[in-house]
Amino acid sequence: MQRRSFIKKTALSAGIIGLSSKELLAAILHQPAYKITMLRNDVGIFTEKGGTIAFYISKTGIAVIDAQYPESSIHLIDELKKLQDKPIDYLINTHHHGDHTGGNISFKGIAQHVVGHENCLSNYQRVAAEQHSEDKQLFQDITFKDSWQTKVGKESIRAHYFGAGHTSGDALIHFENANIVHVGDLMFNKVYPFIDKKAGASFTNWIKVLDKAQSTFNNDTIFVFGHGSNNQVTGGKEDLKGLQNYISQLLTQVGSAIKQGKSKDEILQMTSIENVGEWKDEFKLIKANLEAAYAELI
Ligand SMILES: [Zn+2]
Ligand SMILES: [Zn+2]
Repeated sequence: MQRRSFIKKTALSAGIIGLSSKELLAAILHQPAYKITMLRNDVGIFTEKGGTIAFYISKTGIAVIDAQYPESSIHLIDELKKLQDKPIDYLINTHHHGDHTGGNISFKGIAQHVVGHENCLSNYQRVAAEQHSEDKQLFQDITFKDSWQTKVGKESIRAHYFGAGHTSGDALIHFENANIVHVGDLMFNKVYPFIDKKAGASFTNWIKVLDKAQSTFNNDTIFVFGHGSNNQVTGGKEDLKGLQNYISQLLTQVGSAIKQGKSKDEILQMTSIENVGEWKDEFKLIKANLEAAYAELI
């Protein structure tokens, strides 16, 4: 497996001091830097830009979970081709957001099927229609309601739906033999999460979805996260508990402010959520989080 160094910043923005010669060369050539990490049993992850991609690759089958953006998905496809030059059996989307489906189009004619939850498809179609970008998309041709299962090579892949969380259409994709589950943006590891109320998201239900994930999978399960601080995009149940704690502290804090008679404007001026451990507001989402929590509690 070819590995490339991941650089967060370009030479221009970060300065070139401190970069290794390989990173420096990549920066000068403006080559996007990406990283492939094998986890176990022929399942690995690809990180570059946007939501983490997971994949399974073997002589007898290939499956890819999420697609990032058009440019970065090409890098993944090229790397997979070096390993096995054959069609991809399934591209599976965890949900519809552009940093997970923008690269779907690169799989046109390469992936035999695109799979997602039925609400993932309806959200995806709605957003594409709003942006007049239908021709730049590759929509799911297989959708499911509660769960979906298939066999790819020696691996059994099962998609689960536990209800609305980050959107109304978040699926958890389990490589059952490897015991690795991609939970998409149901996990923002150690960062305040993005929540898409327009796409039917619910903080209250998100806590329940994370409960269900903890009871469905076991202590040996490797969880793959859509996003994480410092590229920490894999982990275990303790990380899910951390996000659950963040959401419940957020709801508690907003709930008690409402009880104290504070106005919406006053609540939106809060600058942090207390007792959330390592969770930080790296994406500047506190206001959006407070507003979503307020809308659910009022
Ligand atoms: Zn995302
Ligand atoms: Zn998302």
